[in-house]
Amino acid sequence: MEPNMDFDIVIIGGGIVGLASGYKIMLSHPGIRIAVLEKEDTLAAHQTGHNSGVIHTGLYYKPGSNKANTCAEGRKELMDFAKEHKIAFEITGKIVVATSEKELANLESVFNNAVENGIEGVEEIGPDEIQEIEPFCRGIAGIRAPGAGIIDFAEVAKKLGELIEKKGNGNKVLTSHEVAGFDKHDFYTKVLTNQGGIAAKYIINCAGLASDRVAKMGGVEPGMRIVPFRGDYYELTEEAREKVKGLIYPVPDPAMPFLGVHFTRKIGGSVECGPNAVFSFKREGYGKTDFSFADTWDSLSYAGTWKLFMKHWRYGLGEYSRAFSRSRFVRQLQRLIPSLTADDIKPGGAGVRAQALGPKGELIDDFLIKRQGNSIHILNAPSPAATAALAIGDSVNRMAAEHFQLGKTKDQRLKTKKAKKAKSKKQKEKVKSEGGFRRSQ
Ligand SMILES: Cc1cc2nc3c(=O)[nH]c(=O)nc-3n(C[C@H](O)[C@H](O)[C@H](O)COP(=O)(O)OP(=O)(O)OC[C@H]3O[C@@H](n4cnc5c(N)ncnc54)[C@H](O)[C@@H]3O)c2cc1C
Repeated sequence: MEPNMDFDIVIIGGGIVGLASGYKIMLSHPGIRIAVLEKEDTLAAHQTGHNSGVIHTGLYYKPGSNKANTCAEGRKELMDFAKEHKIAFEITGKIVVATSEKELANLESVFNNAVENGIEGVEEIGPDEIQEIEPFCRGIAGIRAPGAGIIDFAEVAKKLGELIEKKGNGNKVLTSHEVAGFDKHDFYTKVLTNQGGIAAKYIINCAGLASDRVAKMGGVEPGMRIVPFRGDYYELTEEAREKVKGLIYPVPDPAMPFLGVHFTRKIGGSVECGPNAVFSFKREGYGKTDFSFADTWDSLSYAGTWKLFMKHWRYGLGEYSRAFSRSRFVRQLQRLIPSLTADDIKPGGAGVRAQALGPKGELIDDFLIKRQGNSIHILNAPSPAATAALAIGDSVNRMAAEHFQLGKTKDQRLKTKKAKKAKSKKQKEKVKSEGGFRRSQ
């Protein structure tokens, strides 16, 4: 390491993307020192610890997109990682169910997309097969993806953190370290945290719901803004759990990046229903009435947010009405499981999605990464980024190796420098001796 350098790389954000990136960099560059800084007192405190816990297969993502590619690779890596480290997961399979004629065209395009993405075992199913797979579910047509599963992503993240510290070269995973700014110097950056400054050569921003703010702190214009969308969950009561065996999804609205309210059997046996998607007045606000002036101002002072509202106001109102009305929420669930009643559900948790929004109100769908100077910024890592995290970590590692010249440790750089010096000395001597010879001719 350079003199006065605390770490080679500081990763900001102890969610699954930051930790998977740190883990992959550690595996391929064991000599360098990494610190992961997390502002909360525990890892996986936000999106990673507040999601549906579904191992996606990649039915929906645009063929050739980063989402499609990393979901396929990441899913395999995730299962291998879980097996190796004895983290519980289950391949439950999933069905996507159309309940009305008007959804059939979208269902067909999800199926064609899945085939193009090469999703193993994906098949079209009819009403009888839907009922065979999920006895309480009713639909007119569906798709079955047998490879989908469930896992606790917070557990995966915590294991990654443990390995980064245990196997690395003095690596640290520091919780309760909130990054508040950067003090840039010629050959390093002082990362300013609530616990003091930490010097690092390179910075990787994986701050999820704060990715745009951290980029700006580092002098990088992200070209997008994070607009938070809360998703509320209900849980089936113990008596009603038998109504769901695996994963039951509606046909998604192709205009929106959300998958619709679905039923998810969780590791541990509980069954969640949700999440909806409502504009949130607080980036890390999990309660229905949570409010932050700064976060609301950030969202509402952005032209993109208003353009999005204008385009999708009908969708937004529908989601809001269901957020505040249990009976409307139940009616939505009954489209998939008609026998479900209000007595079958109880309030569950909530999650907030970091939705990256472009200036024209466009919902940025694919993963978005920007590099500038001594930093890399993961600006958009929405679902299926938890499934895909280890493959995203591979991409970040490749990018870091190239952008930061990571392959070269200080020793290697010194060796190269010495070798270059020796070569140039030899050349000079050769020229001198040849020159002497020429002169004597
Ligand atoms: C409701 C919901 C359901 C989802 N369902 C699924 C699913 O079933 N399957 C799937 O694959 N994906 C799912 N996702 C998506 C998935 O959870 C996310 O894509 C993934 O967790 C993103 O991880 P991350 O590390 O980028 O973000 P996060 O987990 O949010 O981590 C970012 C971290 O950065 C920290 N941080 C922020 N600012 C600072 C700072 N200044 N200093 C230090 N630390 C900071 C935060 O505290 C946070 O811990 C879902 C997401 C949501 C919200």
